[in-house]
Amino acid sequence: MLIRQFRNQEVRMDKIAGQYARSGTLALFTESMVSLLSNESSHNAFMDLVSLMGQTFPLAAPALYIDNIGLQARVYTMLEGTCGGDQEARKILGGKACSYNKVVIGGHPPVVHNRIDFLIMSTTGIRVVLCINSGIHDELFREWVKLLTPAVAKLLDHETLMRMAYRDGLTSLLNYRAFEEMLKAEHDRASRYNTTFSIMMIDIDHFKKINDNFGHPIGDMVLKTLSEKLTEGVRKSDRVFRYGGEEFTVILPHTGLAKAMNLAERIRITVEKMKFIAGLQVTISIGICQYYDGLTGADLVKQADRGLYLAKNKGRNQIGIIKDVS
Ligand code: GH3
Ligand code: MG
Ligand code: MG
Repeated sequence: MLIRQFRNQEVRMDKIAGQYARSGTLALFTESMVSLLSNESSHNAFMDLVSLMGQTFPLAAPALYIDNIGLQARVYTMLEGTCGGDQEARKILGGKACSYNKVVIGGHPPVVHNRIDFLIMSTTGIRVVLCINSGIHDELFREWVKLLTPAVAKLLDHETLMRMAYRDGLTSLLNYRAFEEMLKAEHDRASRYNTTFSIMMIDIDHFKKINDNFGHPIGDMVLKTLSEKLTEGVRKSDRVFRYGGEEFTVILPHTGLAKAMNLAERIRITVEKMKFIAGLQVTISIGICQYYDGLTGADLVKQADRGLYLAKNKGRNQIGIIKDVS
């Protein structure tokens, strides 16, 4: 009698445990789908996903691997690099360099044992793999993994489209379209809050000669290296754009003319001293202008362009500023 009661109790406990795991998976399913489908950036969505999985199944020690051809691979993981994380990343990504994003949940550090992996997606250029400790997942979990595929694909497709629309293919810098939109946004902000900003227009001097003497592919490499240098040389809040050809623009929020001039001069000197591929050297000319009340976005571009023209006329490798608008 007592034994039967005990057995019944055991069966009931199993059922409750099963239901508990089931409702855990269901909650994970709902929350992760909402996060994947509503997040603008895949970085935030993947941080969320691993965190939700880790909270629901702490013993699973989940890790998500995004291998995107042409871009740096990404790892989102609960594992410490030194406690199996680095080793697993090397195995899944075949030794490719990656950004390692550790998801911290609290409680005991997760332990790695008997890992299994699920291929979430593998289409042109993108492979997404989820790794967990075996033994914690049920049938519902497997179903959830299957449903992750379209949600992850949608998010990554959206990012790729945005990238293609707003980034330049050669340099990966923001493109002309992005410049037009961000200039408008910055202009609106400055006029509404009575603040200022500056823009810079940068043009490589005698760039045609580089192409003529060394060939177009070398010219392309110079453009790429210069783009990286410009991005490195400005503040995080500043934005560098490829305006077209060998011309670049920079938007400098909350920056007046004096500070913009200092920065432009620093950039000009840095470029002058740089050695590009095969020891090549180039110089740049820069036009600058500052927003003040009454100037439109188009006025600003015109003024910076006139500054650039002045710098070219004065002999290149210098900064040009025109203060009056005409
Ligand atoms: P300036 O000092 O007056 O600016 O002289 P420049 O030779 O730089 O100016 P110009 O406008 O005569 O020539 C610009 C050159 O930039 C011509 C074009 O072939 C080159 N160019 C534009 N886009 C690209 C590109 O994507 N790759 C390469 N390699 N060259 C490019
Ligand atoms: Mg030029
Ligand atoms: Mg030009």
